[in-house]
Amino acid sequence: MQLVDSHAHIDFSHYDADRDAMLQRAADAGLRGILAIGIGDGPEHMHQALALAAEYSTRPGFPAIYASAGIHPSESAHSTDAALATLAELTRDPRCIAVGEIGLDYYHAENPPIDVQQRVFIEQMSIAAAARLPILIHCRTSDAAAPAAREKFAGADAWADLLTLIEQHWRPTGLGGVMHCFSGSNEVARRSLDAGFLISFAGNITYPKAQPIRDAAAYVPLAQTLVETDAPFLAPVPHRGQRNEPAFVTEVAGQLAQIHATTPEAIGETTTANFSRLFLNGQPLA
Ligand SMILES: [Zn+2]
Repeated sequence: MQLVDSHAHIDFSHYDADRDAMLQRAADAGLRGILAIGIGDGPEHMHQALALAAEYSTRPGFPAIYASAGIHPSESAHSTDAALATLAELTRDPRCIAVGEIGLDYYHAENPPIDVQQRVFIEQMSIAAAARLPILIHCRTSDAAAPAAREKFAGADAWADLLTLIEQHWRPTGLGGVMHCFSGSNEVARRSLDAGFLISFAGNITYPKAQPIRDAAAYVPLAQTLVETDAPFLAPVPHRGQRNEPAFVTEVAGQLAQIHATTPEAIGETTTANFSRLFLNGQPLA
């Protein structure tokens, strides 16, 4: 079994007490690599995932750890010129293989207004383009949000806005990216694939009510599919409700194997190759 967890927040304090043991369990579960997402809990902590990648790269027996850096849309009001300069600096680190997670989130009423989110998204796309790095997209609509959020964002469609901005600001670069923790429609999946993105499925694909996500997973070709945990969030069945961790990406692979009538091993092999193709120029993980 070989697997890559393409999206995990292993720098979060949830793992401070047992990070080594958690990563050891990941290695035991067959994980060859983890993409550690560098958003911290705000722009001042964007470097934390890279620090972990550097630390564990010198220690044998753990999965290969790569990192991203970026400003989450929920934190976009805290994006300053200094924060963007720091982001540009972090992208020069060889273990920084992506900018993200970035995008739009119209789900939480406390999130910054649409114009702020869109400006910061565009600014980060331009930093990623200058660094020639793929982007990791977070996108959440207000469809199922609380009434306060639906009122604030006035029925705006985050996916429609996001795909428009990508067409304008990203597609011309010819660089790819990942739609992380995908929960969009098949139409959104199609437009994302057309724009050169891979689609990553997380633990919520195992939830009983997640048939639309499973339908999207059946629609997306395996050659454009990644697996992730989004740990510590969204633990898959049978761990639902607990702290999530990269080892549980095996459950996502198992669900995808059922959907595509293949084996978890085949899912692992293909998604690992997809990861390498997008982020590592096809080189093996190390
Ligand atoms: Zn995330």
